[in-house]
Amino acid sequence: MNTFLSSLQTELFEDYKKFLTSEIEPRVEDLENDPDKVKSVFESLGQKGFLGTSVAKEYGGCGEPFIHTALLIQALGQIDAGLAMSVASHLTAAELIQKFGTDTQKSRYLPLLARGECIATVAATEEGAGSDYMGIAACVDKESSLTAEKTWVVNGDVAELAVVTARGEESPLGLWLVDLSQVKDAVKISANIKKLGLAGARTNNISFKNLKLDDASRLGGVEGPASQEEALLHGMDFIKVLAAAAAVGLTDMALAHSVDRARSREQFGSAIGKLQAIQWKLADMSSESCGARLLTYRAAWSKDEEPTEFRKNAAMCKYYAARVAQVHSAEAVQIFGAAGLSCDLPMEKLYRDAKVMEIAEGTAEIQKNIVAHEIGS
Ligand SMILES: Cc1cc2nc3c(=O)[nH]c(=O)nc-3n(C[C@H](O)[C@H](O)[C@H](O)COP(=O)(O)OP(=O)(O)OC[C@H]3O[C@@H](n4cnc5c(N)ncnc54)[C@H](O)[C@@H]3O)c2cc1C
Repeated sequence: MNTFLSSLQTELFEDYKKFLTSEIEPRVEDLENDPDKVKSVFESLGQKGFLGTSVAKEYGGCGEPFIHTALLIQALGQIDAGLAMSVASHLTAAELIQKFGTDTQKSRYLPLLARGECIATVAATEEGAGSDYMGIAACVDKESSLTAEKTWVVNGDVAELAVVTARGEESPLGLWLVDLSQVKDAVKISANIKKLGLAGARTNNISFKNLKLDDASRLGGVEGPASQEEALLHGMDFIKVLAAAAAVGLTDMALAHSVDRARSREQFGSAIGKLQAIQWKLADMSSESCGARLLTYRAAWSKDEEPTEFRKNAAMCKYYAARVAQVHSAEAVQIFGAAGLSCDLPMEKLYRDAKVMEIAEGTAEIQKNIVAHEIGS
């Protein structure tokens, strides 16, 4: 593969950045406290066509390679990693429908999702089932009623559509499309969970009690994917690459701010950037962020061009890019000194967001397990 972007892709990335900086960045503050703001940001992204990059043209999208979606999330990660993860969650639900849904499910949901007129989420995690995603208690009983307690659901209180995992009468895992706007009585959604970082990704608990489902709500219908677990794993691989892209965007900012600070901050009569101690931090940050970016682009490329390598590449880039973001956002705080701790400057937020990236969408340890398994150990 050519690990560098084509000139068209570089232009696309610049276009994303231009629009996001002028139209979205001024609105990212306080997404945590304002669900309506999240909805209006999704509408703007949808109107611009950014939520349909990977959606097929026949369903209102652009039908572009997955790497273009990764570039969008990297650009979003530069302005707010939380918002980037909120969009990533939405796009993952769309991917599951596009890859495994029935024609009816695709025509019903994909155009709305691509236009940002309906926000989506994936609800898999439960209190007793995090890394162990098959250990869920959620079930759909003989009468096709769903009972479930899902937690850490990004977009929980702004989504109208949720892809929910639950056990079936005869299967250990099923994926169900739940139209949250239609089933208010059987669904309870908690307030936004306050967390260390990624505040821009609103996160909620969702509980379902005796929610009646029909065969049309099953992802792919009764004839759906033979292995629902494999479908879920594909969704997880997909979102991991986007999480890595968000982490790369975050590290881009840590590096840019650190270089500026190294040039402008003087101590002992000259810029701190003249000190080898600072130069080496910047050199490590630059080299490792470049490595994370290339792994992420390779993983995105392999989804379309080398699918047998996709699972390994997705786990590798998620693990590495989140680690690089965490290590180097901490180094960026160090370069800023006390100013790095100030809530008036961006460094402390980058540092908090980066730590969450190592846990959200699959922990570092689980990614290493996957890489080890995929290389045959
Ligand atoms: C910001 C955020 C957003 C999220 N968004 C969503 C969402 O939209 N939808 C959703 O369904 N879920 C979501 N999650 C949940 C997320 O996927 C889980 O938190 C994650 O998979 C880890 O599960 P856990 O938190 O229960 O940790 P645990 O599974 O309890 O793990 C605890 C520790 O044990 C380690 N560990 C566990 N098993 C192993 C093993 N086999 N080998 C080595 N180490 C192991 C882990 O690496 C970790 O360090 C989100 C989480 C966060 C933080």
